[in-house]
Order: sequence, then C-alpha cells, then structure tokens
Amino acid sequence: MSEGIEKYLHKEMDKQAGIEHTFHRTKIVATVGPACNTYEKLLELVKAGVNVFRLNFSHGTHEDKASIIQMINRMNSEEPYNVSILADLQGPKLRVGDIKHGLLEINNADILTFTSKEKVLGTKEKIYVSYPNLHEDVKVGDKILIDDGKIEVVVIEITPDDDVKVVVTYGGILLPKKGLNLPDTEISLPALTEKDLIDLDFIIEQKVDWIALSFVRKAEDIIDLKQRLAEKNSTSKVIAKIEMPSALKDLRNIILESDAVMVARGDLGVELPVEKVPMAQREIIRKSIHRARPVIVATQMMESMIDHVKPNRSEITDVANAVLEGADAVMLSAETATGKHPSLVVETMRRIILEVEKTEYRYNREDDLKPLAHSPSFLSDAICYNACKIAKDVSADALIGMTQSGYTAFMLSSYRPQSPLYIFTKARTLVNQLSLSWGVRAFYYDEEISLDDIIKDQINILKERGFIKIGDVVINTGSTPVPLHLPTNVLKITKVE
Ligand code: PGA
Ligand code: MN
Repeated sequence: MSEGIEKYLHKEMDKQAGIEHTFHRTKIVATVGPACNTYEKLLELVKAGVNVFRLNFSHGTHEDKASIIQMINRMNSEEPYNVSILADLQGPKLRVGDIKHGLLEINNADILTFTSKEKVLGTKEKIYVSYPNLHEDVKVGDKILIDDGKIEVVVIEITPDDDVKVVVTYGGILLPKKGLNLPDTEISLPALTEKDLIDLDFIIEQKVDWIALSFVRKAEDIIDLKQRLAEKNSTSKVIAKIEMPSALKDLRNIILESDAVMVARGDLGVELPVEKVPMAQREIIRKSIHRARPVIVATQMMESMIDHVKPNRSEITDVANAVLEGADAVMLSAETATGKHPSLVVETMRRIILEVEKTEYRYNREDDLKPLAHSPSFLSDAICYNACKIAKDVSADALIGMTQSGYTAFMLSSYRPQSPLYIFTKARTLVNQLSLSWGVRAFYYDEEISLDDIIKDQINILKERGFIKIGDVVINTGSTPVPLHLPTNVLKITKVE
C-alpha cells in the first residue's frame, strides 16, 4: 500500500448525500437507455456510483431525452447530488440501409454493389449506404468494414453511374442499419451532419453540461462546434471523441481546442488495427492529463455484464488499467443502457476503481507536470502545482480550490493529488460539469466577502458536511483582490479550529 493512503481511506461519506461508500476519485459515466430510464432506476445508479449520465443521440427521440434530462435535473435539485449530463452527438456515422427480409447472408468472394442514390431494400444486387459522396471519396483497393468489422469488403470498381462495387473478404450476416467504417478513406462529410445540427439545437435548449462530438477528424471540427455554441451563448463544454486515425494525427491540437477527451475504443478498434488500441489509449490519456483535460475511457469495459452478474477477468483488469493509466472517468454503454444488471455493473466497477485507488495508484503527479514558463497561465499554474506539492508534503486533509472558469479545478485535478479535492465556484453550471473531473467534489458558492472570510467559510462548510474536522490541515487556493476575479494567485495553509 502506498505511503500515507490509509489516512484518506476512512469512509469519506457525504452524510448529507446519504452516500455511505468511500468516494471514488475516478469517475463513472453511464449511458441511459431502456434498462434505466425511470427516476428510481437513475437514482439507484447514482447511489451505486454514477457521476455522469450519457445520452446517446444515435438512438431514441428528443421526447425521451427531454424526459431523462428532466429526471436528472429533478434529482440534482431534490437530492444533494451534482450528476452531470453528457449529450453524445452521432457525428458523420455511415450506415447501410434496410435489408430485404431483415438479413442478408454474405459469403467470401461475393461481389456487392453499394449505392447512395436511392434507398433500395438491400439485396445481393444492391445495398444502400447513407453517404452521398461514397463514389467520390473511395478508391479501388480501399477497405470497408461493416458492423464493427464483422464483415469486410474491398472496393474493386467505381461504376460509370456512381455505384461502388466491392468484393467480400470476410463474409457474415448483414443486418439492417449497421455501421460502416472506411479506415483507408478520407471522408468528405461535414463534422456535424444535418441530424447533428437538429440534435444540437435541442441540446443547447436543454442546457446539458457536456457535448461529445463523434468521429472528430481535426481540431477545426471542435472549433466549429464551439463557435456554434458561443453564438447561442451556450455554456456546454465539448468532448472530442477520438475514434479515427486522422484524429490521432492531430491529437495535440484537438486536445488543446477541446474541454475533455474520450478514448472511443468501439470505432477506434475498427478504424485502426485492433492491436493498436491499447497504446493509443495510453497516449491519449497521457496527453490529455498533460493539458489538464478530463479524459474518459469508453466502450466494452464491462461488456459481459450486459448478460451476466460477474465481469470477465479481462474486463476487471481493463477497468483497473484505465484507472492506473490515470483516466478521469470510465464509461459504460450498453451495460447500463440495455443490459440486465445496470446497478450491479456500476457497483462492480466502483469496487474495482476503489481497489486500485487504495493500493498501487500513482497519486501526486505534479513532478511530471511542472508549470511551463511560456504558458499564458504560468503564474496561476505555479500556485496550483505548489498547492498540490505542499498538500503532499504536509499530508493535507483537504485541498480546496476556487474557480470561475473551471481552470483551477481542472489544473488541480490533473496533478491527481492524494489529499481530497474540493472546488468552490459561483459558476452554477461548473458544479455539475466538474463531476466528470478526477477527484473533484464541487460546491456552489457565491459569497464575495474578503478572502480571509471566504476561506474560513469554505472550511466551515466542509466541516459541517463531515469532510474535515478540528485539527485537520487544509490547503486553500484563491485570488485577491476578491472583486477583480483574477486567476488564482494565493495559497494558504490552515489548521482547522
Ligand atoms: P459510440 O462511441 O458508442 O457512440 O460509437 C464510443 C465508441 O466508439 O467507442
Ligand atoms: Mn463511436
């Protein structure tokens, strides 16, 4: 057991929230679907450990989504939770159309024809593909993968009437509406499709905390989405889903333009040779932490629990490894959306996380992440860095930050301090947004008294909620003069009275 961790393993339960288990620093994102779409079931998942609910806009109606959002908002107002809402846009996902008789057996060496001109019922003669530029973008020899790569074909001809002929290399059963991946092709579709723009209007109206964009190819895709949000005064933050090889090439800039990042292993494992996914995951996590952007590891983490009450051994290790690599959050998809045991999956995942966090876990990463002199936020970075360093040196019982933009919270969290991290903010939307961020417990706070009084007040709030007690050592960051709302410029150490 790493030195000093026992100290933090007392039941850090939040009496007011009625949560009796130890607080997990690595957060849990759960996808909402038919298996958990009532208020009671959602509440059960939150009690089991969910921090963020994901609404997948690839499925379902706006009406369903609105009702889930209403339930989560109600939960946040009636119960002392800050559950965050993540809306996941489908992005330029390509699909085949409907299939005659509901399925089509495809054999190796079959020749098929894809068309994007008319929505024909798929047969061996012709299959519709939802991609108008297919014939212009693909080249002879390009691979096309269907249904997560279960079926593989190669382009052999672009016909004079703009259809695409392919030869089957791995056959299988083709089902309607299955996804299509073209790892060799540069796709000319816009980052936000017509459907995405309609979904986006709804999402902006609903004021969700996080918006994830699927199939991001380059930093401009994120800039475009952010501009649209800014035009409508939206405070939603943006997550870049990394699931295309082109995104890995522009990774640095994509991370810089995004507020958070997702390792979307489902499509990434189809677009890339599967064996490249584990190292890509490591690289994405490392670079995201380096820029203080929350990073989520997604897809098939507890897949076998869709049906079973226990995960596979490989899944347990996968979750544990994601935590060890430093992910801010781990995500569940079908496990909670359509699986048989939604709250058991969450509970199991939480137990795996806690087991890692109390043993081998690499806390206190500030030495790997020294503040950079050329950074525009160098001085406040130096305060955050040293706050975490001092917290480690004195084994502080709490590290308390204040933020309006969120910057100080993301920064403190990125150092993965072993001392419990509490963030106070007067930006109401941030309180829930920070539920995605490693180790953060956020509180709404809008007093504008002197910094001395603010610090005293915040310590009292934590004392009343049972997080700290008399005699504890507490580190605060803040900024003076208070009315100017400057970046973090003060570091204080207090013994609680
Ligand atoms: P999806 O994204 O579930 O929306 O496809 C996650 C992934 O591809 O891993
Ligand atoms: Mn995906």
